[in-house]
Amino acid sequence: MNSYLYGYGPPGNREWLIVDLGITFGSDTEPGIDVILPDIRFLEEERPNLKGLLLTHAHEDHFGAVIDLWPRLGGVPVYATPFTASMLKSKLAEVGMLQGFPLEVMPMGGRRTIGPFDIELITMSHSIPEPSGVVIKTELGTVVHTGDWKLDETPLTSGPTDEARLRALGEAGITALICDSTNAVRDGISPSEADVAVTLEKLIRAAPRRVAVTTFASNVARIGSVAKAARAAGRKLVVVGRAMYRVIEAAQETSYLDPNLPFLPETEFERIAPGKVVALCTGSQGEGRAAMARIAQGEHPNVELDAGDCVIFSSRTIPGNEKAVARVQNGLSDQGIEVMTDQDAPVHVSGHPRRGELEQLYSWTKPKIAIPMHGEGKHLEAHARLAERLGVGEVVRARNGAMVRLAPEPVAIIDEVPVGRLYRDGAIITAEGDGQVRERRKLGFVGSVAVSLVLSDKGQFLADPEVALTGLPTTDTHGTPFETIVREAVIGTVDSIPRPRRKDPNLVSEAVRRGVRAAVNQAWGKKPVCSVLVTVL
Ligand SMILES: [Zn+2]
Ligand SMILES: [Zn+2]
Repeated sequence: MNSYLYGYGPPGNREWLIVDLGITFGSDTEPGIDVILPDIRFLEEERPNLKGLLLTHAHEDHFGAVIDLWPRLGGVPVYATPFTASMLKSKLAEVGMLQGFPLEVMPMGGRRTIGPFDIELITMSHSIPEPSGVVIKTELGTVVHTGDWKLDETPLTSGPTDEARLRALGEAGITALICDSTNAVRDGISPSEADVAVTLEKLIRAAPRRVAVTTFASNVARIGSVAKAARAAGRKLVVVGRAMYRVIEAAQETSYLDPNLPFLPETEFERIAPGKVVALCTGSQGEGRAAMARIAQGEHPNVELDAGDCVIFSSRTIPGNEKAVARVQNGLSDQGIEVMTDQDAPVHVSGHPRRGELEQLYSWTKPKIAIPMHGEGKHLEAHARLAERLGVGEVVRARNGAMVRLAPEPVAIIDEVPVGRLYRDGAIITAEGDGQVRERRKLGFVGSVAVSLVLSDKGQFLADPEVALTGLPTTDTHGTPFETIVREAVIGTVDSIPRPRRKDPNLVSEAVRRGVRAAVNQAWGKKPVCSVLVTVL
C-alpha cells in the first residue's frame, strides 16, 4: 500500500501534495480482513493544508484507498490521467460517490500547478495503461517521483517510458529521485509485454482443447494479447469475472482496447466447441470468490473445464498468496487439467525495473539525492546500494513514516510521523491496534469457552451452570468430555469462594475464568478464551 506526501513551506505552514493512496489485501494473519488501508492520522491533522491527491496509476496498491479514505481528507481535489480517472469513476459510481467528486483529469505528460507545486506527469511503462511519474518543482528544486515503472519499448498500451523527457530533466538538474525498488535484487533488463503476447499466441494455437487464461484484471495489455491470440487461433473469447469487465470497459472507453475485439459473456462458454474457446478469468492470486478458484472446484455456474483442457497463469504469485494459488492449481491438476505458469513458459513479465533498468534511469536523471521506495526491506536496501555504487551523492534510507528534508541542504530525516494500518472489517474501518483481529487470531488457536452462572444473594447456585465450548477437542486423553471438565471447574471454583464474597459478580467471574482456563490447560495443554457471565439474584 503506497502513499507519499510532498511538502513545501516552513513547519506549521506547510502545504502538501499527496501522491497515491493505496491498499493492500489481508492474508491468513488478519482473519476476516479483506482490505488493509494506510493510517492517515497525519493527513487528517493537516487537512486544511492538503492541496491535491495525485494518482500515478490505477493499481489497487496506489489508488485502492481513495473510496474509503478520501471522505476524511476535507474535500481535497484528486488528479489522474484519463484511464486512471475512468477506473476511479467506475468505483465512485458503484458506491454512489461520483456526484460532485472533485476529480480533475490530466492528460498524459500534462502540466499544472497544484498549490505551491509546479507538477508535470512523465509517461512511464508498467503493467497497466498510463503509469505516470511525477515531476514536482518548487523554487528549491526538482523532485522526480517515478511511481511504478519499467523500461519496455513495446508495452502494448500507453508508453513507452519517456526517455527524452527524463534525460532533459536530468540535464536541467534533479534534486531527488524517489524510485521503485520492487525488482532491485534482480539483474538485467525485464522482457517486454510483447514477448508475452507471442508466447500466449503460440500456446493457444497449439492447445488441443479449451484454454483458460488468468491474469491481473488491470493488465489491459495482457487482456488485449489474449484477445488477439484467441482471434489468431480462430477461437472465441469469453470473459469470466466482474473485475475483468470493469477494466475492459474503462480500456475501451479510453481506446486502450480495440472496441472491435469481441469479448463474450461467460454464459456463451458452454455453447462453444472445446477447440474453439478461450476463457479469460479473474483469480490469478487464488482468491476464493474469484472465477479461477470456483472453476478449480467445479463450482462455477457457467464455466466447466475437463481433463485435457489447459489453464495458463499469466501472472506472478504475490508473496502471501502462495498457498491459495497452490490450492487452485492442485484442484485443476486433480481434474487432469494442464496448468502452465511462468515457470513453464514466458507467460508473464513484471512491471517493475530490474537493476539494468534502474542503472539506465540513474544515468538519464543524475539526481543529487536518491530515495528508494516501493519494496520490502531487502529490495529497498539493494536499491540503496545500487544508487551508492552509481555515485549518487546522498542516498536516504527512508522507511514508513520518515519525513525527509530534500532542500535546502542538508538532506536529513527530520521527523517521524505516525503511520500504521487500518482494517476494513466488514462495513467498519478500525485501527490495527483496536484488537479484534488479534482476538480472532487467538480464538483460531485456542477456541473459546462461555459460562453462565445464576447465584442467589446467599451465594447458592439457583440453576446448573450453563457452558458452551467452541473449537475445543471433544474429550481429553482419558475420554472425559471437556464439557464435564469445564462444569466441574466452575462448581469447584465457586465452592472455594467464601459465601459472603460470592455477592460480587466481578470477583466470581474472574475466579471462574481463571479456574476454567487452568483446568482446561491441565487436560489440553492450551488455555481457551473464556467469558463468564454471572447473575446474582
Ligand atoms: Zn503498479
Ligand atoms: Zn505498486
